Amino acid sequence: MQKYDVIIIGGGVSGLSCAITLGSAGAKLEIAAEKKILVIDAGKSHLNMAELYNVPGIGKGTKGPELLASLAQRAQEYENISLIAGNVVEVSGNAGEFNVNTESGECFGTVAIVFANGMQTIAIEGIGADVVDHIRAPRPGMVMIKNDNGKIGESKYVTGCAAGATSMFASAAGYGAQTATDIISEWVGKYTVIHDVLKKG
Ligand SMILES: Cc1cc2nc3c(=O)[nH]c(=O)nc-3n(C[C@H](O)[C@H](O)[C@H](O)COP(=O)(O)OP(=O)(O)OC[C@H]3O[C@@H](n4cnc5c(N)ncnc54)[C@H](O)[C@@H]3O)c2cc1C
Repeated sequence: MQKYDVIIIGGGVSGLSCAITLGSAGAKLEIAAEKKILVIDAGKSHLNMAELYNVPGIGKGTKGPELLASLAQRAQEYENISLIAGNVVEVSGNAGEFNVNTESGECFGTVAIVFANGMQTIAIEGIGADVVDHIRAPRPGMVMIKNDNGKIGESKYVTGCAAGATSMFASAAGYGAQTATDIISEWVGKYTVIHDVLKKG
């Protein structure tokens, strides 16, 4: 069984933002560069239906699928990040030794899990937290995983719309970055924010 340090379930906006923030930290932190990260995605991001006019820093009329593809490509530029297509059906185990199973029968081991599965129906066994009506959903039938400030247990994180973020690109991306920063901080042992600074001259 292949083993990872972090498995991110969902390669939409929040999952890829989380992966990119984790990957980019490797340039500054040796401990981050050593971590193996896997993103498993079922390919049903809400971004696939969006055309964007209200996202800071992104051109007016940007097409969601193109933006999603560029985020996926960006995440995979980091050597320690892999992205695969798959539908996670079950998670089991405890912090440090979780198992993640997909519909097609693959099983992966991981130290930490991030649920970044959006606000659509959540059909994953063993989450270990209640799935409830979404607190900020624009329409009925949308759900989220009940959480405490983005955590549902030791080394178990939930992010983006799955965690209750409002259905906006910027909110989901921001939540993903925050989850990554929380994970990096656990690796380092104190709260740690990685920034790149404009070079002088
Ligand atoms: C029609 C439409 C228009 C929109 N327009 C705008 C807009 O104009 N501006 C704006 O800011 N936002 C817009 N949005 C919202 C934006 O797309 C979302 O806020 C954003 O995609 C949420 O990111 P997320 O990562 O939380 O979820 P998503 O991007 O939906 O990603 C969740 C991912 O998890 C995957 N997943 C789920 N379950 C599993 C599983 N069991 N195993 C593996 N993978 C799984 C899904 O396949 C999906 O790829 C729009 C959304 C829609 C639907």
